[in-house]
Amino acid sequence: MKFAITSKGDSNSNTLMHKIKMYLLDFNLQYDEDQPDIVISVGGDGTLLYAFHRYCSRLDKTAFVGVHTGHLGFYADWVPEEIEKLVIAIAKTPFQVVEYPLLEIIIRYQNGERESSYLALNESTVKSVEGTLVMDVDIRGQHFERFRGDGLCIATPSGSTAYNKALGGAIIHPAIPAIQLTEIASINNRVFRTVGSPLILPGHHTCTLKPVNQTDFHVTIDHLTLLHKDVKSLQFRVADNMIRFARFRPFPFWKRVHDSFISNS
Ligand code: NAP
Ligand code: MN
Repeated sequence: MKFAITSKGDSNSNTLMHKIKMYLLDFNLQYDEDQPDIVISVGGDGTLLYAFHRYCSRLDKTAFVGVHTGHLGFYADWVPEEIEKLVIAIAKTPFQVVEYPLLEIIIRYQNGERESSYLALNESTVKSVEGTLVMDVDIRGQHFERFRGDGLCIATPSGSTAYNKALGGAIIHPAIPAIQLTEIASINNRVFRTVGSPLILPGHHTCTLKPVNQTDFHVTIDHLTLLHKDVKSLQFRVADNMIRFARFRPFPFWKRVHDSFISNS
């Protein structure tokens, strides 16, 4: 089996990365940065987001596992003290896999330029470059509302505990193939009206944003921010692909929610 390791880059994470690498080489596993069967991310949830995007083109062939060197993460749920156990578990394959849904984003342009498509593990947000964001929101091809405000966020179930949560969105169990649309500071008065509540869309219901006047936007895909010009529409739906996590022991999602947000005892 071939493995790769990504590190957050601090000295703690780097030391741990080298240790894991040595152990796995001792078990006769092969280090392959380009075509790994398993990717071990050492750092935090942000490090796993980075690893996801690096190996995004071979999701069906790669499993991920996260070790945290800071606080407990949603994707990085192994502690450094457990790495011997983890390494042995990895070495004696096959391992179990759990799959989480992803968000697909397709951006189309005014000038007929080729569309761009992305996958997000946490969420995508759309914000204006200057002034209020004004967007027509279509759901399943039907006009739903005209949004005015700071921005819109579309999150995956596993991303629902990140930015989505700060926006008042619900926490969704990753066994549910859905996406969640939340508002970022909508303008609501007698003239302008949005639904206000987060919306949860099932698989294959698309949400499309259509610009009303400005056509340049800042679009985030997880930790990445990109400027898109001459945008005609942005389409969001549950992706056909899923991310696969290597699972070596039970650590239920609701326990991770409890330990991260309530208390770790
Ligand atoms: P960051 O600024 O380090 O991330 C913000 C925090 O979100 C970190 O504590 C990070 O954990 C945590 N996080 C990431 N994914 C999570 C998840 N699925 N569930 C719960 N917490 C999660 O930047 P980053 O590490 O590159 O992460 C990018 C993410 O930051 C974005 O995808 C977005 O969700 C989030 N974000 C949040 C807000 C907000 O809450 N107001 C605003 C902008 C962006 P680690 O420390 O373990 O990395
Ligand atoms: Mn981070």
